[in-house]
Amino acid sequence: MESNRKLKMAIAFASVAALSVFFSLHYRRRRKQRSRRCACYLRADSKPQDSFRRVLADNSYSPFKHLKLEDGDSSYSHPYEAEITALLDCPQLEFTFYPDEKIPTTRDTYTWVETEQQLNELADILIKERVFAVDTEQHSLRSFLGFTALMQISTQDEDYLIDTIKLHDAMGILRPVFSETSICKVFHGADNDVLWLQRDFHIYVVNLFDTAKACDILSKPQRSLAYLLETYCGITTNKLLQREDWRQRPLPQDMVQYARTDACYLLYVARCLVGELKQKENESCFDDELHFVLEACRRSNMICFQRYMKDIEAAPGESAASSIISRHLNGQGGESDDFKAQFQDMVRRLCSWRELMARVHDESLRFVLSDQAIVALASKVPTTTTDIFDTIRQADFNTDSLSSSMPSPSPVVYSHMDGFCDLLQERIDNCNEISLVVLQKCLGQDGTCPLSVFNYSVLVNFTMRSTNKVVSRQNGTKSLKQVSRKASRELFVKKFSCKSPVYHNCRIYANDGRLLCYCDRRKLEWYLHRGLAKLVEDDPPAVMLLFEPKGRPEDEDNEFYIQRKKNICVGCGEGNHYLRYRIIPSCYRMHFPEHLKSHRSHDIVLLCVDCHEVAHAAAEKYKGKIAEEFGIPLFVRNIVDLRDDHVASEPCAMGINFEQAGISPLELRTAAMALIRHGQRMPQKRREELMQIVMRFYGGRDISNADLERALLVGMSSHERRRLEKKRGLSLKHSNGGIIPDKRQIGSTKKMMISSTVNRSKVETVDVSFSEEEQQYVNEEITDQVETEPINPGMEPEAPAHDNNNENTICYTSQNGNLQNEGLDLGDSRNDETQPTHNPKLSLLGHGPHGKQVVDHILKEYGEDGIGVFCQRWRQVFVEAINPRFLPAGWDIKHSGRRDFGEFSVYNPIKKALAEAAKS
Ligand code: AMP
Ligand code: ZN
Ligand code: MN
Repeated sequence: MESNRKLKMAIAFASVAALSVFFSLHYRRRRKQRSRRCACYLRADSKPQDSFRRVLADNSYSPFKHLKLEDGDSSYSHPYEAEITALLDCPQLEFTFYPDEKIPTTRDTYTWVETEQQLNELADILIKERVFAVDTEQHSLRSFLGFTALMQISTQDEDYLIDTIKLHDAMGILRPVFSETSICKVFHGADNDVLWLQRDFHIYVVNLFDTAKACDILSKPQRSLAYLLETYCGITTNKLLQREDWRQRPLPQDMVQYARTDACYLLYVARCLVGELKQKENESCFDDELHFVLEACRRSNMICFQRYMKDIEAAPGESAASSIISRHLNGQGGESDDFKAQFQDMVRRLCSWRELMARVHDESLRFVLSDQAIVALASKVPTTTTDIFDTIRQADFNTDSLSSSMPSPSPVVYSHMDGFCDLLQERIDNCNEISLVVLQKCLGQDGTCPLSVFNYSVLVNFTMRSTNKVVSRQNGTKSLKQVSRKASRELFVKKFSCKSPVYHNCRIYANDGRLLCYCDRRKLEWYLHRGLAKLVEDDPPAVMLLFEPKGRPEDEDNEFYIQRKKNICVGCGEGNHYLRYRIIPSCYRMHFPEHLKSHRSHDIVLLCVDCHEVAHAAAEKYKGKIAEEFGIPLFVRNIVDLRDDHVASEPCAMGINFEQAGISPLELRTAAMALIRHGQRMPQKRREELMQIVMRFYGGRDISNADLERALLVGMSSHERRRLEKKRGLSLKHSNGGIIPDKRQIGSTKKMMISSTVNRSKVETVDVSFSEEEQQYVNEEITDQVETEPINPGMEPEAPAHDNNNENTICYTSQNGNLQNEGLDLGDSRNDETQPTHNPKLSLLGHGPHGKQVVDHILKEYGEDGIGVFCQRWRQVFVEAINPRFLPAGWDIKHSGRRDFGEFSVYNPIKKALAEAAKS
């Protein structure tokens, strides 16, 4: 067995060597001929994805565009958010997953679906089902973002294998089945599948039952499908097949069998798990009979809320480079600083080149050039072509078990050797230049490589960006307006930018010499004073902890915290002035649970004045969107419709608190929507509850269907309203009875939010003052975070030291060049007299209860995961607004912010409890 394997490896090695000789000869010949046109291996090699015509996620840096339904929000939001919300609110709990109590026996036949007609027939069958099981197989080696190579669907009667390569452009046919609320889709571990289906086909799953979530709730010892198949069906699977090449056609018999097995037992497994969930409910003493099943459904459908997003990073290959560098240099002592600097630089170049080449050729990173080859090349930079080949081949042969099935060096390296040599011999200077050179050589005029749907917009985006830069540089003449703008800008810079570097880049090491984090001076001193660390380096200072810290950053994928941070604008790289920018607006963050907001350095970045202004404007605009989406206006809390005079006069006269009498617009809308859509089918009790909610809005009177329709519009912007009306076929006149007064509709979003929720009977609960809690938060922010939050050995990020600027806005230059306080501009002159004379900083938090309500809502509905998703959305807004190119490596839209607290951290729950106990 072993010798057989060795022989195989030797043969693989020999054939790769032969190939490389062939390629080097070919390469030399090519150089002589200088026939650039047929240089790239892709001119001869074709890949299955070449046949795709409709590619939704291309390899460019532009954000992924989601399906835009006719009445949908934007191409960046989830098109079926309303349906999923309705489902969470009123879940379907009657399951008929599988009729039989017996373990299903393997069926003799299956249906291979590979024509559009067959796919249409399948859609017709599925739309009549109540439930079906789904799984997908991916291919990721010869593609940059990966693609779905096979989809398995099983109903009670039949297994279908869909050739999603052949049918790639037609898969939209199944979109309605997947988004149909009344059909339950059973997956196992749907997190990735849900995103993959969005990425490739704009297919969105609504109504999901995930057997892995059920496992979690039942506290099963394992949650893998293999475990479930073995436990419930007595079937063992060979999970190694998962990693086979699923592009193969015809699919080998063992892979067909494996693929079928992944889906066809799922319905039966789901039946068993729901049975157990129900049993668990009966055993427990909860009143709510459906507690466990309900929870499984909720968690499953929360997965549907995810949206596919492309990873965006500061510079091409930057995060991969950081990871390689820290992995390699950490295990290595005794190298000179010169060597280290050179090594790091070379790793960065190689990673940058690799990533661009991967995008251009639609290949995975590891196919283009392996991590270990990068380390080998950067350690001893080879000069001749033969040396380069040998170095790569040796590195791959030594370490990667996959290398036997992958050509080493890859054809990408072979066929683009001249660029690769330039890179190694440092004839290309920085990463930006690498990008330009690669794109010009490969895709530019007379480029070497084929253009395709995957790489076309890499080229277009990049060319546009670099020409913009050139134009703005050449534009030397300035208008008078620009001059005065410049003067006030300078004043602003002087007044508000940070006076000294924010990041001191001091380091903290663990007692085994591993780098734990970068931080500022005050934090180092804190450790030193308490004898918890000893100084090991002077400039910039570094300490080593004298105790065992909790965890290491790499262990938890927290690359971000072991990066040296530059004192420059993360947007454009400006280094002369910068100020802090909070990516997640304080009006929300201040209400997050303590442990989620205490690690803040990830979401506070430095921006120059110009980028700051752009980012701030985008955030303000997005707050308006959040307000609309959640139905929680920026200034008003509860709403009551008091159009019927007899109702209106009473509570007013009695001085009833409208905030209690009313109802939040979101609650109202969700209830109305649920009643309109599912009112007939839902249990009597639930229907009554929902009716109560709507009745509260109408002051307690009986409600008609027209009232329900009208309730759908409450709290929406006029734009949103028009769209909904169009969809539901309502005329504007129909509801023009007073919920939305017309004359205030024009103006800022803020104005719209106020006017759209205040009705004509003058229930105006506009509130611009601050609660005690908010006031306290503001004070806290001003009195610096450094003393209160640094002490989490090993895992604590750098808390930027307190400076004079604590909030995202203070003043911005208005068009006429004056400085004005934007925070106080509430866009409504009625508030002039009541304008608070607060510190301007306060006003910026000032959306009354909006922030708190939004956060409370998220916590209640989606828990802490919801907060995570919410933070991701703000990071996305930030990234889209300024396209930051200098973010520290490891900065991640998906950053979890969930980290353990060390023994000495003031946030350590045990420590906190002890401190509290000591006080009392
Ligand atoms: P599954 O959900 O098990 O059907 O996996 C679906 C797809 O995910 C497979 O086709 C693989 O492309 C990918 N995948 C899952 N787990 C792994 C793994 N451990 N290594 C590589 N690829 C995996
Ligand atoms: Zn090429
Ligand atoms: Mn599978």
